[in-house]
Amino acid sequence: MRPIEEPKVYLVAKTMLEPDGLNAYLRDIGNPDWKPDPGVSNAENLVEAAGRMCYRSWQPYDPAKPEATNPNVTTVRQGNDAYIGNVLKSGHGSVLEHACLTFICRNVSRVFTHELVRHRAGMAYSQESLRYVRLDDIPFWMPGSARANETARKKIEEVVDFLENTQKELSAIFGMADLTDLKEKKQLTSMFRRVAPIGLGTTIMVTGNLRSWRHIIEMRTSPHAEEEIRIVTGKIAEICKAHFPNVFQDMAFDQVQGSWTFGHTKV
Ligand SMILES: Cc1cc2nc3c(=O)[nH]c(=O)nc-3n(C[C@H](O)[C@H](O)[C@H](O)COP(=O)(O)OP(=O)(O)OC[C@H]3O[C@@H](n4cnc5c(N)ncnc54)[C@H](O)[C@@H]3O)c2cc1C
Repeated sequence: MRPIEEPKVYLVAKTMLEPDGLNAYLRDIGNPDWKPDPGVSNAENLVEAAGRMCYRSWQPYDPAKPEATNPNVTTVRQGNDAYIGNVLKSGHGSVLEHACLTFICRNVSRVFTHELVRHRAGMAYSQESLRYVRLDDIPFWMPGSARANETARKKIEEVVDFLENTQKELSAIFGMADLTDLKEKKQLTSMFRRVAPIGLGTTIMVTGNLRSWRHIIEMRTSPHAEEEIRIVTGKIAEICKAHFPNVFQDMAFDQVQGSWTFGHTKV
């Protein structure tokens, strides 16, 4: 068993604007008096553009710009912060779906990944294949309740070591070192994993849109959620707050519960 300090989260991708395309569109509809805010993330500018496009609310009505403005709109909210604040308040969260964030979660257990992949709407996953990757060396993160109890911790270590040795023994029984046929190796590796611990450390890449991340953070940092998913989604929440302060403007850390809560839920 290889002890793991803590699961890790890496932000590896996020939605970027294509300024030439957006500028060409704005030019074609008559150059409304609106520009992406250079001090704001691409994702948040894209969310604002999606909303303003819906209502032709780039600027107040101007009869000279019929494709960009609308006689129903006499005033417009100024600034990305205020604009997105109103989207959140009114619950028109579908515009948040245009921007995505991708994370790699490393040294997370299959307990965690199984819970994470239950989130379907707006999500994409790629998970380390345990049909391909052999488990001769089992990384393992010890939950706090086990760390706090010496007898329990030792028992768990004993079992994980036993299961790790079982992997090696099964490899020897089937002469894995001498096999060349990948199909056969995959079939055997997949058979071996049936006796691997669900707590083994693995890796998953996950992409979600900003609307989905808000929902997942709320559900999975809740005190009712499991310890490991609370830690991992807590790290994701911190990254979201730092990178997209306007989309996460109503999200706050509750020191007492250790959870992230939202002013507007299920936008
Ligand atoms: C504390 C906790 C305990 C849990 N315990 C269990 C358990 O014991 N057993 C168990 O099986 N699961 C359990 N879960 C998982 C839970 O039931 C959900 O499957 C999981 O949280 C995914 O959330 P979601 O359903 O909101 O789906 P998401 O995929 O995150 O979707 C987001 C939202 O989109 C909408 N949506 C998505 N798909 C559909 C659809 N097909 N039709 C209509 N609307 C849709 C819903 O409004 C949904 O809330 C638990 C979750 C938590 C947080």
